[in-house]
Amino acid sequence: MRVLVGAIGHESNTFTPFLTQREDFYILRGEELLTTPLRHSSLAGIIATLQARGVELVPTIMAGAMPGGVVARPVYEEFKAVVLDAAHDIDGICLFLHGAMRAEGVDYAEDTLLRELRAKVGPDMPISLALDMHANIMPDMARNVDAMVAYHTAPHDDAYETGVAAAEMLCVRLFEGVRTCVGFAKCPFLLPGEMAQTALEPMAGMMRLVAEIEQRPGVLSATLANGHCWADVPDVGVAAVVVTRDDPELAQALADELALTFWERRADFGVSAEAYGVDEAIAVALAAPESTVFLSDSGDNPGAGGTTDVPLLLGKLIAAGASSAVIASIWDAAAVQACMAAGVGQQVTLSVGGKLDTRHGTPLEVTGEVRLLTDGQMYHGGVRQHPGRRRLGPIAVLNVAGVDVILSSTRLSFEDPVQLRSLGLEPLDYRLVVLKRGYLTMPFAVVAPRSILAFTPGATNCDVTQMTFERLARPWYPLDRDMTWQPG
Ligand SMILES: [Zn+2]
Repeated sequence: MRVLVGAIGHESNTFTPFLTQREDFYILRGEELLTTPLRHSSLAGIIATLQARGVELVPTIMAGAMPGGVVARPVYEEFKAVVLDAAHDIDGICLFLHGAMRAEGVDYAEDTLLRELRAKVGPDMPISLALDMHANIMPDMARNVDAMVAYHTAPHDDAYETGVAAAEMLCVRLFEGVRTCVGFAKCPFLLPGEMAQTALEPMAGMMRLVAEIEQRPGVLSATLANGHCWADVPDVGVAAVVVTRDDPELAQALADELALTFWERRADFGVSAEAYGVDEAIAVALAAPESTVFLSDSGDNPGAGGTTDVPLLLGKLIAAGASSAVIASIWDAAAVQACMAAGVGQQVTLSVGGKLDTRHGTPLEVTGEVRLLTDGQMYHGGVRQHPGRRRLGPIAVLNVAGVDVILSSTRLSFEDPVQLRSLGLEPLDYRLVVLKRGYLTMPFAVVAPRSILAFTPGATNCDVTQMTFERLARPWYPLDRDMTWQPG
């Protein structure tokens, strides 16, 4: 028994003003997939499950990059070709695909890949997918695969288990000879991830229904995929998927039930964390009794494609007189170079940020003291990531009246306190920790005494009614609040 395996992951934000290039990806090829520790990834779950069944693996590619702009077309074509070229002399296919990848001229990258894959391998080849919870699942994907399941947690904590589930559904077909059937329904709803943390209501209630459906007889998996709302493409909704053992009617009925339940609760979906407009968020954070407050600069979140160069929150914090804060981080290579030229302990006046995302920010002039300089050989890892050193390019910390501004030469995503500590900055020593994030990642959430989300401008603005959608089909909730919808 031979099964093709691989993983291609990117969340592509069409509001991000640059393309994602090949060098932005971490890429493994062929046998490297089997010899490199993949930790808690879905691909690791797929590989372990299939190997335990004695399946011979045909490893293709693992490619992943930080969420960002649309992927350069040749890069996408290269990844796709690796999978397609290996799709012969096999008995099945099991892939992790993020589900929200876009390439130049390709609105739905996974959908296109699967259509070409199905055309090559024919109708009888079983294909099973693991997906990110922010997948934008298209109707043709449901028709072109035999099974699929997305993460059940946000923040994501079950990538490995999702890979296991996808591989097990493939095994139902391979080892039991039982057909698996996909039911699919999709609501026209732009859902920022910040409104759908699975531990918080109302999403927690939806996930209890997902779990309950998975317990019903004949059901193999259920999925409620948020989509990735920061994409101006015609269709980026919330999808319900149910996979059954050889029962297409049951799969469709349950997918419809799940989607309709979500739709009926649509008005309950707001940002589930403590959240305010930017001025109020700063005021509440500064007045908070907690020793440290984490403040999310949610509109400029690299975890969903933000540039990390919108300096608005920094300017407002300085104006508000914040005297003990750290900002992680602002991408401005020229500002870093200016700090390097000046040296530690020197005063500099710089214009920071506002150079990439010029739609949502303008450069901010600040005067401060260079507190720290590093070549960016930063320790990366900790709770969820494989620990190791990464070359992140030169980094400077500029102290502006008590606000430590981390200036980076590349776009950084702060996901674990260890990243701040590796710069010699202890987050809990500050009154305010400003992260360019939406909801906190698990490693920050567990140490944060209090977390407040600020609605800020940028490529990941949590108030989607503030974004300009030109290609999205209409009507679409919540842009068209009074619209109606039903499955089928
Ligand atoms: Zn996600």
